[in-house]
Amino acid sequence: MSGQRSMHPVDVANRVIDSGMAESPHNRVTHELSVIEDDVAVIESFSHCWVVDTGEGLVCWDASGVQSGPTVVAALRQWTDRPVHSLVYTHGHVDHVGGSGAFVADAQGRGDPRPRFLAHEAVPARFERYRATNGWNLAINRRQFGGIRNPAKLGIGGDGPRFLTDDVAEPDETFRDHMSFTVGDRTFELRHARGETDDHAWGWDAERRTAWTGDFTSWVFPNAGNPQKVQRYPIEWAAAMRDMLAVGVERVYPAHGLPIVGRQRVEIVLGDIAEALEHLTGRTLDLMNEGASIDEIIHTVRVPDHLADRPWLAPQYDEPEFVVRNVYRQFGGWWDGNAANLKPAPEAAVAAEVVGLAGSVEALVDRAQALVEAGDVRLACHLVEMAVAAEPEHEGAQRARADVYWHRRAAERSLMSKGVYAAAARESEDALGEDAAGDSIAASIRGSLG
Ligand SMILES: [Zn+2]
Repeated sequence: MSGQRSMHPVDVANRVIDSGMAESPHNRVTHELSVIEDDVAVIESFSHCWVVDTGEGLVCWDASGVQSGPTVVAALRQWTDRPVHSLVYTHGHVDHVGGSGAFVADAQGRGDPRPRFLAHEAVPARFERYRATNGWNLAINRRQFGGIRNPAKLGIGGDGPRFLTDDVAEPDETFRDHMSFTVGDRTFELRHARGETDDHAWGWDAERRTAWTGDFTSWVFPNAGNPQKVQRYPIEWAAAMRDMLAVGVERVYPAHGLPIVGRQRVEIVLGDIAEALEHLTGRTLDLMNEGASIDEIIHTVRVPDHLADRPWLAPQYDEPEFVVRNVYRQFGGWWDGNAANLKPAPEAAVAAEVVGLAGSVEALVDRAQALVEAGDVRLACHLVEMAVAAEPEHEGAQRARADVYWHRRAAERSLMSKGVYAAAARESEDALGEDAAGDSIAASIRGSLG
């Protein structure tokens, strides 16, 4: 919070979009408030909080996370004393709702009325799901951000920490397809579309041609594939981009990344997102309809070359291969098409057979290391997994597994892949009696993204 102010987000965005060249980072968490229009500001956080001063109270879009909420509210209060009239959850992910308790506390502390919380009607069900799967969500989020998942070791069972904290405000008003609301001199429309989630809303101010887009635009490759989370909707995501373009959006105010100002820039970025998703989903469905297996599909379908280097599609969080899998899951179920995998033998039993045929665990480990040297880390991972599954107590196998996954991690771009591979490496280090959890905890505490 001290020192020089960050560059104005619109200036950064304009430069990146106009040049097509990446500058990093685009997903800034400065906790600084930037005035975007006289009566519109954003606090760039984890997620951002957008604020509209209507003259009769503030309308906010997203509450940021539980850790960042108080900092966001403090930044807001440097800008204005007006009460928060309404706060829209663009969706129910914890980095968008977790800070709501800080907004309620702010209102209480100032003697203002409690803010009204607005959201899609599926948000309360999401909150219920988070409570029912608390330990699971804590564990997978730790792994997504590179931490190991052992719940006993991390104290996340029973009365441990809550993935959805108890002070998160339930929505006061919900809607199904769309609703509009007026505060002061501003009228906003909320529209539902599935994309990253089943409960996503985007806001539309027709007069100002402004859309609050939540995670529909996030300045990373769309989070529509996430390997550890529930179904996402890449086809509907692309359709939402087309809808935004069709209504005439000229200003895009996202919950992560940078504002997109000007119709041409909006067309470029939203058009690219739509095109990338349409291509991935269309090719995947074509191949499914031709009878292809998921194995064939993930090794065939790619983002078109001309979109590969777009700064707003960088696979730094999620990645295209996972989106392809999500399309397959959405329409094809969980079975991978390999008949042995329909009702498989235990992995350890399969691995023991292979080790027996190879002659020893060392044979697998040596081959895995040779494959890493030859640059085929994908294949090497299978061999170290088998080595460890066959003989979990084998030190050389655990050591090789850790090494292979650290190599694998270094070669990946997406945080989700890096996280899973780091977690695997740390699990092997943990099995070797090395302190694996330590430095992953800080990352996992922040690990509350969708
Ligand atoms: Zn988000």
